[in-house]
Amino acid sequence: MEKISVVVSCYNEEKALPLFYAEMERIREQDFEGIAEFEYIFVDDGSKDQTLDIIKLLREQDQKIKYVSFSRNFGKEAAMLAGLEVSTGDYVTLMDADLQDPPALLKKMYDAIVFEGYDSVGTRRVTRKGEPPIRSFFARMFYKIINKISDIEMVDGARDYRLMKRQVVDAIISLKEYNRYSKGLFSFVGFETKWIEYENIERVAGETKWSFWKLFKYALEGITAFSTTPLILSSILGLIFCLIAFLAIIFIIVRTLIFGDPTSGWPSLVCIIVFVSGIQLFSIGVIGQYLSKTYLEVKDRPIYIVKEKV
Ligand code: UDP
Ligand code: MG
Repeated sequence: MEKISVVVSCYNEEKALPLFYAEMERIREQDFEGIAEFEYIFVDDGSKDQTLDIIKLLREQDQKIKYVSFSRNFGKEAAMLAGLEVSTGDYVTLMDADLQDPPALLKKMYDAIVFEGYDSVGTRRVTRKGEPPIRSFFARMFYKIINKISDIEMVDGARDYRLMKRQVVDAIISLKEYNRYSKGLFSFVGFETKWIEYENIERVAGETKWSFWKLFKYALEGITAFSTTPLILSSILGLIFCLIAFLAIIFIIVRTLIFGDPTSGWPSLVCIIVFVSGIQLFSIGVIGQYLSKTYLEVKDRPIYIVKEKV
């Protein structure tokens, strides 16, 4: 029988975890009995509450449960990677512990892979109800910007909740970069992905670990990890400055020839300042280009990922 690994990152989820486990078991018995066996991988991301004790207690009743516990809080990205690395299933799903990722969708996702031939199935929220409006606004802006400046497509509202074939999981694990931005990594590895949409669900218990500031930093992470466009900006700005300086020089020379030079020295000084700052900005941009190449080399991403080979 095929095996599905359920990878759950948990940070201070003592309240939500028992509810999550109960619901998952219900879905497993209802939808997957005789079809696939399960393995739970709980990654305790350095929780400060009873999360680890609860995981150990669950493990005593159910040998399907495995866990990894971090020495401190390393963040959800690290937790997801650890979970993927220890997972052994033919399929792996990434889920939050707060039941915001509806387990009821799992069968539909599984069928899409098994019967429709997809390699992975992602989920996206089409509504953001229950979320502060300001947060939704910035989230939308973020997706607009990143999709303009990155070659990689980021789906608005995409969750980390997804089901993947082993091959996709192995591709993700092969990306060893330290600054991880999963939504980008999933797009980067490619493969046929089906998107399932659902309405936002609020968490069952406990509270969100993402403050606005944390999300903002995460958004910057996404931009710097998947776009080197900001490095080109100074080049463009520099060119614009040089152009302005050039036009200004012509304008001032013509004006001086016609009207004379009442404030002597000022026009030439301004032209020189604009021109030199233009050259400086442009040079920074050139350095930026080399930096971006170095940056991409250092990430050491695979140059291609093979899906089939004969
Ligand atoms: N999480 C984690 N490490 C962290 C922060 C969050 O493992 O440093 C886990 C958390 O336990 C939950 C999931 O990531 O299972 C999503 O977090 P949360 O529900 O707080 O985020 P939201 O759904 O509000 O975006
Ligand atoms: Mg949540």
